[in-house]
Amino acid sequence: MRGTTMLDLGLRNELIVLDAIRHAPAGTSQSEVVHRSGLSRQAVSLITRRLRAQGLIEAHGTLAGSRGKPRTILRLVPSSRLAVGVHLDPAGISLAVVDLLAAVIAQRTLAPPTADPASDVARIADALTSVQADLRAQGWTTPDGHDAAEAMLGIGVASPGAIDVARGRVVSPPWLPGWRDVPVVEQLGQATGLPVVLDKDTNAALTAETWSVAQPPGDTVLYLYVGAGVGSAVSTGGRVHHGAAAQAGEIGHLPTGLDGPLCGCGRRACLSQFTDAASMLDAAERQGLLGTADGRSMTARLGDLAAAARGGEAGAVELLDGFGTALGEALRTLIGVHDPHRVVIGGPSWPSLAPLALPLVEQRALRSSPHAVTIESSLIGDGVGALGAAALFLQRELSPTGR
Ligand SMILES: [Zn+2]
Repeated sequence: MRGTTMLDLGLRNELIVLDAIRHAPAGTSQSEVVHRSGLSRQAVSLITRRLRAQGLIEAHGTLAGSRGKPRTILRLVPSSRLAVGVHLDPAGISLAVVDLLAAVIAQRTLAPPTADPASDVARIADALTSVQADLRAQGWTTPDGHDAAEAMLGIGVASPGAIDVARGRVVSPPWLPGWRDVPVVEQLGQATGLPVVLDKDTNAALTAETWSVAQPPGDTVLYLYVGAGVGSAVSTGGRVHHGAAAQAGEIGHLPTGLDGPLCGCGRRACLSQFTDAASMLDAAERQGLLGTADGRSMTARLGDLAAAARGGEAGAVELLDGFGTALGEALRTLIGVHDPHRVVIGGPSWPSLAPLALPLVEQRALRSSPHAVTIESSLIGDGVGALGAAALFLQRELSPTGR
């Protein structure tokens, strides 16, 4: 199933030119690319010719130049290549196929990861084959006639931590108890014949945000990921901060400063005590606010809890207030540490919790902020893990900041 349209973009300057063109979805002229990239006119001309020959960019009309000479408008051809994203989430494995602007072309949801990672990897590879067959049956091709299997550049995998990015291994995520020291990059690469990259789900979600939304270059973006647990990620100019062992953003034991019980880590009132989906749902069950899981997913049950709170159920309101207050206090600390231009909150559980929690988060988080920071909900929704995983691959392969 190896693609036949592999990119040959070894040169950093080619990535710089492609990046400049990608950031202007409506198109840009060669002189603008020269201006933005800082490269010579000759270099840009040579590179754009190569990118056009590979079908990655196209000429899209002309614009009258200042001295009467018409300038060719260049723009990205988003559907010239595809990337695949796989999100290993305790609620389920999701798979997304996206184009070069991270727009979703196809997606699948599979049963959650099991205690048999090798069979999980085989399920993912089978699902990808079946998506490729579906796209072929629908007549999907790139503008220059390649089918989906040929257009696929590679796969990004997003996993909860702890992972080993350099060795491509899922190490010991508490949320995936069946996955211990799994060489997922190697296994999935062998099963599909495609290159694979691995990163944390929080970093993937942040990459989805910065890849698909036009943002001022150099902005620092702080992302809060709300899933089974809560994590954070930070990037500046599109480059995600990983830390020494990709452990950056493990904020579950960040003290909130609220009243709370002693945590297993030895501190009091840690963030995770208020925000872990499993403990919120356990508490709701104990209070009789929710029935037993009965096959419903964690995300769906959080939606049930939020609906109970909207209906005025006191216990549910209290749990969501605790969640929003604790998240806001943690965010207040993180804003002080990272000084972001903007904060984005997303992840699979956030859409159901946001309507009640966001006002509390804003109120707490911005209490001592020295300058205006916007806090917004991600518009990507609960598919952000798989979409972000695909964006991770695009970032690693096509952006000068990814190398
Ligand atoms: Zn703790």
